[in-house]
Amino acid sequence: MHNEIEKVLISEEEIQEKCKEMGAELSKEYEGHFPLAIGVLKGATPFMTDLLKRMETHLEMDFMDVSSYHGGMESSGEVKIVKDLDTKVEGRDVLIIEDIIDSGRTLAYLVDLFKYRKANSIKIVTLLDKPTGRSADIKADTVGFEVPDEFVVGYGLDYQEKYRNLPYVGVLKPEVYGG
Ligand code: 5GP
Repeated sequence: MHNEIEKVLISEEEIQEKCKEMGAELSKEYEGHFPLAIGVLKGATPFMTDLLKRMETHLEMDFMDVSSYHGGMESSGEVKIVKDLDTKVEGRDVLIIEDIIDSGRTLAYLVDLFKYRKANSIKIVTLLDKPTGRSADIKADTVGFEVPDEFVVGYGLDYQEKYRNLPYVGVLKPEVYGG
């Protein structure tokens, strides 16, 4: 375990097992289709690659980077596109892949955008869900693990751009935040 991690919440083995299960489930759901899998940068990339390796249907991959603006202490909920897709969404079966859903604002924005762009269907798969943090009316179709309202890092999730490359999800020691 990394010496700045206080505890591991979800082990590498548990994550890999979950990717296998979710991949099998999604393969059935998309059988005979050619979904457009959209990873939300940067956090979703480790999950996206592990999950999609477990899918047997043909699929296309693309990436989108969005940022949320936070005014003062409160999150304004304003989402801005930093990198848009290279692929047309119209008529496509879109599978949005996220690392974690907290307030749900990022996904609410993306779902509205892909509806506006006339996707044929939209599904959300997230590795982690923090249901207690929710303010937007959004629900994932497939959730890997529910996590408590704690700040987690690893497997794509960062603190100041670090820890994304950990193979597990964990909680940092308080002193890392200067606490
Ligand atoms: P939402 O729009 O659902 O509030 O934001 C989701 C985004 O917030 C995630 O993609 C992630 O970047 C960030 N986020 C939410 N909770 C956590 C957390 O516990 N740890 C980290 N590292 N990022 C988080």
